[in-house]
Amino acid sequence: MTTRRSQAEEAARLLQQRKEINDQDFFLPHLTREEALRIVSTFREQPPSSDSSSSVSRQDTAVQSKQPILPSPELPKSYKDLRNHALACTRCGLAENRKSVVFSDGVEDASVMVVGEAPGANEDDTGIPFVGAAGKFLDLLLATVDLSRERNTYICNVLKCRPPGNRDPKPNEIKSCSPFLTRQIQLIQPEALLAVGSFAGRLLTGQEKTALGRIRGEVHSYQGVPLVVTYHPAALLRNPKWTFAFWEDLQLLRQVLNSG
Ligand code: SF4
Repeated sequence: MTTRRSQAEEAARLLQQRKEINDQDFFLPHLTREEALRIVSTFREQPPSSDSSSSVSRQDTAVQSKQPILPSPELPKSYKDLRNHALACTRCGLAENRKSVVFSDGVEDASVMVVGEAPGANEDDTGIPFVGAAGKFLDLLLATVDLSRERNTYICNVLKCRPPGNRDPKPNEIKSCSPFLTRQIQLIQPEALLAVGSFAGRLLTGQEKTALGRIRGEVHSYQGVPLVVTYHPAALLRNPKWTFAFWEDLQLLRQVLNSG
Protein backbone atom coordinates (compact mmCIF):
# COMPACT_ATOMS: atom_id res chain seq x y z
CA MET A 1 0.00 0.00 0.00
CA THR A 2 1.23 3.47 -0.77
CA THR A 3 2.13 5.32 2.41
CA ARG A 4 1.68 9.00 3.03
CA ARG A 5 5.48 9.33 3.22
CA SER A 6 5.93 7.79 -0.20
CA GLN A 7 3.19 10.06 -1.54
CA ALA A 8 5.01 13.08 -0.18
CA GLU A 9 8.27 11.81 -1.65
CA GLU A 10 6.48 11.33 -4.95
CA ALA A 11 5.30 14.93 -4.81
CA ALA A 12 8.88 16.03 -4.07
CA ARG A 13 10.15 13.95 -7.01
CA LEU A 14 7.59 15.54 -9.30
CA LEU A 15 8.70 18.99 -8.24
CA GLN A 16 12.34 18.01 -8.79
CA GLN A 17 11.53 16.78 -12.29
CA ARG A 18 9.83 20.06 -13.15
CA LYS A 19 12.89 21.88 -11.91
CA GLU A 20 15.26 19.66 -13.93
CA ILE A 21 13.39 20.30 -17.17
CA ASN A 22 13.67 23.99 -16.34
CA ASP A 23 9.95 24.48 -16.16
CA GLN A 24 9.84 28.09 -15.04
CA ASP A 25 6.09 28.17 -15.41
CA PHE A 26 5.34 26.06 -12.38
CA PHE A 27 2.51 23.64 -12.95
CA LEU A 28 0.22 24.64 -10.11
CA PRO A 29 -1.07 27.81 -11.72
CA HIS A 30 -2.60 25.61 -14.39
CA LEU A 31 -4.65 23.70 -11.83
CA THR A 32 -7.96 24.76 -10.52
CA ARG A 33 -8.34 24.70 -6.78
CA GLU A 34 -10.53 21.58 -7.11
CA GLU A 35 -7.91 19.78 -9.18
CA ALA A 36 -5.20 20.68 -6.69
CA LEU A 37 -7.30 19.49 -3.77
CA ARG A 38 -8.01 16.22 -5.57
CA ILE A 39 -4.28 15.62 -5.87
CA VAL A 40 -3.58 16.30 -2.22
CA SER A 41 -6.60 14.34 -1.05
CA THR A 42 -4.40 11.24 -1.17
CA PHE A 43 -2.52 12.66 1.81
CA ARG A 44 -5.69 12.51 3.85
CA GLU A 45 -6.28 8.77 3.85
CA GLN A 46 -5.77 8.79 7.61
CA PRO A 47 -6.33 11.50 10.20
CA PRO A 48 -3.12 13.52 10.10
CA SER A 49 -2.98 14.00 13.83
CA SER A 50 -2.29 10.54 15.12
CA ASP A 51 0.74 8.97 13.54
CA SER A 52 3.21 11.61 12.59
CA SER A 53 5.95 10.57 14.95
CA SER A 54 8.22 9.50 12.12
CA SER A 55 11.50 11.32 11.77
CA VAL A 56 10.68 14.63 13.39
CA SER A 57 12.22 15.23 16.77
CA ARG A 58 9.60 16.77 19.04
CA GLN A 59 9.20 18.03 22.54
CA ASP A 60 6.17 17.53 24.72
CA THR A 61 6.61 20.98 26.16
CA ALA A 62 6.73 24.01 23.91
CA VAL A 63 10.01 25.90 23.74
CA GLN A 64 9.50 29.42 25.03
CA SER A 65 10.43 32.34 22.82
CA LYS A 66 13.49 34.23 23.98
CA GLN A 67 12.79 37.38 22.04
CA PRO A 68 9.20 38.58 22.12
CA ILE A 69 8.44 41.48 19.81
CA LEU A 70 7.18 44.29 21.97
CA PRO A 71 3.73 45.63 21.19
CA SER A 72 3.61 49.25 20.18
CA PRO A 73 1.24 51.05 22.55
CA GLU A 74 0.34 53.71 19.98
CA LEU A 75 -1.03 51.21 17.46
CA PRO A 76 -4.82 50.99 17.20
CA LYS A 77 -6.53 48.32 19.25
CA SER A 78 -9.30 47.40 16.82
CA TYR A 79 -8.55 45.23 13.81
CA LYS A 80 -10.17 47.58 11.33
CA ASP A 81 -8.26 50.59 12.67
CA LEU A 82 -5.01 48.63 12.74
CA ARG A 83 -5.42 47.66 9.11
CA ASN A 84 -6.24 51.21 8.06
CA HIS A 85 -3.25 52.45 10.03
CA ALA A 86 -0.98 50.01 8.17
CA LEU A 87 -2.43 50.90 4.78
CA ALA A 88 -1.36 54.50 5.33
CA CYS A 89 1.92 53.70 7.09
CA THR A 90 5.12 55.55 6.27
CA ARG A 91 7.14 54.38 9.28
CA CYS A 92 10.03 53.13 7.16
CA GLY A 93 11.59 53.74 3.76
CA LEU A 94 9.76 50.83 2.13
CA ALA A 95 6.73 53.11 1.85
CA GLU A 96 8.46 55.07 -0.91
CA ASN A 97 8.42 52.44 -3.65
CA ARG A 98 5.56 50.17 -2.71
CA LYS A 99 2.47 49.74 -4.85
CA SER A 100 0.50 48.12 -2.03
CA VAL A 101 0.63 47.60 1.69
CA VAL A 102 0.15 43.84 1.93
CA PHE A 103 -1.59 43.50 5.26
CA SER A 104 -3.17 40.04 5.26
CA ASP A 105 -5.40 37.47 3.66
CA GLY A 106 -7.71 34.85 5.14
CA VAL A 107 -10.24 34.95 7.95
CA GLU A 108 -10.03 36.92 11.17
CA ASP A 109 -11.41 34.10 13.33
CA ALA A 110 -8.56 31.83 12.23
CA SER A 111 -7.23 28.75 14.00
CA VAL A 112 -3.84 29.19 12.38
CA MET A 113 -1.88 32.28 11.50
CA VAL A 114 0.79 31.80 8.84
CA VAL A 115 3.64 34.32 9.00
CA GLY A 116 6.08 34.82 6.14
CA GLU A 117 8.85 37.30 5.49
CA ALA A 118 7.77 40.10 3.17
CA PRO A 119 5.73 40.69 0.01
CA GLY A 120 7.23 39.93 -3.39
CA ALA A 121 6.37 41.43 -6.75
CA ASN A 122 3.06 39.57 -7.17
CA GLU A 123 2.00 40.49 -3.66
CA ASP A 124 2.97 44.13 -4.18
CA ASP A 125 0.87 44.16 -7.37
CA THR A 126 -2.20 42.59 -5.81
CA GLY A 127 -2.03 43.61 -2.15
CA ILE A 128 -2.52 39.95 -1.16
CA PRO A 129 0.14 37.84 0.60
CA PHE A 130 1.31 34.54 -0.88
CA VAL A 131 -0.04 34.69 -4.40
CA GLY A 132 1.74 33.24 -7.44
CA ALA A 133 3.28 29.78 -7.57
CA ALA A 134 4.63 29.77 -4.01
CA GLY A 135 1.28 30.89 -2.65
CA LYS A 136 -0.61 28.25 -4.59
CA PHE A 137 1.79 25.61 -3.32
CA LEU A 138 1.28 26.86 0.23
CA ASP A 139 -2.50 26.59 -0.21
CA LEU A 140 -2.11 23.09 -1.58
CA LEU A 141 -0.01 21.93 1.35
CA LEU A 142 -2.23 23.63 3.94
CA ALA A 143 -5.19 21.80 2.43
CA THR A 144 -3.56 18.49 3.37
CA VAL A 145 -4.27 19.33 7.01
CA ASP A 146 -7.66 20.91 6.35
CA LEU A 147 -6.47 24.49 6.51
CA SER A 148 -7.53 27.14 4.04
CA ARG A 149 -7.67 30.91 3.80
CA GLU A 150 -11.39 30.73 3.19
CA ARG A 151 -12.26 28.83 6.38
CA ASN A 152 -9.71 28.83 9.17
CA THR A 153 -6.38 30.42 8.26
CA TYR A 154 -4.98 33.96 8.38
CA ILE A 155 -1.88 34.79 6.35
CA CYS A 156 0.49 37.72 6.67
CA ASN A 157 4.15 38.69 6.62
CA VAL A 158 6.51 40.32 9.08
CA LEU A 159 6.97 43.23 6.66
CA LYS A 160 3.90 44.68 4.99
CA CYS A 161 5.74 46.41 2.13
CA ARG A 162 8.02 44.91 -0.49
CA PRO A 163 11.78 45.35 -0.09
CA PRO A 164 13.19 46.44 -3.48
CA GLY A 165 14.39 43.50 -5.55
CA ASN A 166 13.19 41.15 -2.80
CA ARG A 167 16.30 41.88 -0.76
CA ASP A 168 16.46 40.83 2.89
CA PRO A 169 14.63 43.09 5.34
CA LYS A 170 16.82 45.56 7.20
CA PRO A 171 16.84 45.77 11.02
CA ASN A 172 15.22 49.23 11.06
CA GLU A 173 12.43 47.97 8.78
CA ILE A 174 11.79 45.01 11.07
CA LYS A 175 11.78 47.28 14.10
CA SER A 176 9.32 49.64 12.42
CA CYS A 177 6.97 46.99 11.07
CA SER A 178 7.00 44.11 13.55
CA PRO A 179 4.63 45.85 16.01
CA PHE A 180 1.92 45.44 13.36
CA LEU A 181 2.53 41.70 13.45
CA THR A 182 2.46 41.65 17.23
CA ARG A 183 -0.87 43.43 17.27
CA GLN A 184 -2.23 41.15 14.55
CA ILE A 185 -1.39 38.13 16.70
CA GLN A 186 -3.04 39.76 19.73
CA LEU A 187 -6.19 40.55 17.78
CA ILE A 188 -6.51 37.35 15.76
CA GLN A 189 -5.66 35.15 18.76
CA PRO A 190 -4.86 32.08 16.68
CA GLU A 191 -4.65 28.66 18.27
CA ALA A 192 -1.25 28.23 16.64
CA LEU A 193 1.30 30.09 14.54
CA LEU A 194 3.10 28.70 11.51
CA ALA A 195 6.25 30.63 10.61
CA VAL A 196 7.38 29.89 7.06
CA GLY A 197 10.99 30.58 6.20
CA SER A 198 14.07 31.25 8.24
CA PHE A 199 13.42 34.95 8.61
CA ALA A 200 10.00 34.64 10.27
CA GLY A 201 11.07 31.51 12.14
CA ARG A 202 14.14 33.12 13.65
CA LEU A 203 12.30 36.30 14.53
CA LEU A 204 9.41 34.60 16.30
CA THR A 205 11.55 32.06 18.13
CA GLY A 206 14.22 34.62 19.01
CA GLN A 207 16.86 32.22 17.66
CA GLU A 208 18.29 34.69 15.21
CA LYS A 209 21.50 32.86 14.40
CA THR A 210 20.13 29.33 14.29
CA ALA A 211 19.67 27.49 11.00
CA LEU A 212 16.06 26.85 10.11
CA GLY A 213 16.70 23.12 9.98
CA ARG A 214 17.45 23.24 13.71
CA ILE A 215 14.36 25.28 14.63
CA ARG A 216 11.79 23.24 12.75
CA GLY A 217 10.40 19.94 13.98
CA GLU A 218 9.39 21.08 17.45
CA VAL A 219 6.74 23.24 19.03
CA HIS A 220 7.90 26.65 20.21
CA SER A 221 5.84 29.28 21.94
CA TYR A 222 5.43 32.89 20.93
CA GLN A 223 3.93 34.87 23.80
CA GLY A 224 1.98 31.82 24.86
CA VAL A 225 0.84 30.84 21.36
CA PRO A 226 2.20 27.49 20.07
CA LEU A 227 4.53 28.10 17.16
CA VAL A 228 5.71 25.69 14.47
CA VAL A 229 8.48 26.73 12.08
CA THR A 230 8.99 25.34 8.60
CA TYR A 231 10.41 26.14 5.18
CA HIS A 232 9.11 28.94 3.00
CA PRO A 233 7.01 27.57 0.11
CA ALA A 234 9.22 29.44 -2.38
CA ALA A 235 12.18 27.48 -0.97
CA LEU A 236 10.32 24.24 -1.66
CA LEU A 237 10.01 25.22 -5.31
CA ARG A 238 13.79 25.63 -5.42
CA ASN A 239 14.53 22.58 -3.25
CA PRO A 240 11.73 20.05 -3.73
CA LYS A 241 13.42 17.53 -1.44
CA TRP A 242 12.27 19.69 1.50
CA THR A 243 8.62 19.08 0.65
CA PHE A 244 8.30 16.10 2.95
CA ALA A 245 9.84 18.03 5.87
CA PHE A 246 7.30 20.80 5.30
CA TRP A 247 4.53 18.26 5.26
CA GLU A 248 5.83 16.72 8.49
CA ASP A 249 5.79 20.16 10.12
CA LEU A 250 2.17 20.51 9.06
CA GLN A 251 1.42 17.23 10.81
CA LEU A 252 2.99 18.68 13.94
CA LEU A 253 0.84 21.79 13.55
CA ARG A 254 -2.24 19.61 13.20
CA GLN A 255 -1.26 17.75 16.38
CA VAL A 256 -1.07 21.08 18.20
CA LEU A 257 -4.52 22.08 16.93
CA ASN A 258 -6.05 18.73 17.81
CA SER A 259 -4.64 18.83 21.31
CA GLY A 260 -6.00 22.32 22.05
S1 SF4 B 1 7.11 48.02 5.83
FE1 SF4 B 1 5.76 48.25 7.61
S2 SF4 B 1 6.67 49.95 8.78
FE2 SF4 B 1 7.51 50.06 6.71
S3 SF4 B 1 6.14 51.46 5.61
FE3 SF4 B 1 5.39 49.38 5.23
S4 SF4 B 1 3.82 49.05 6.81
FE4 SF4 B 1 5.06 50.80 7.46
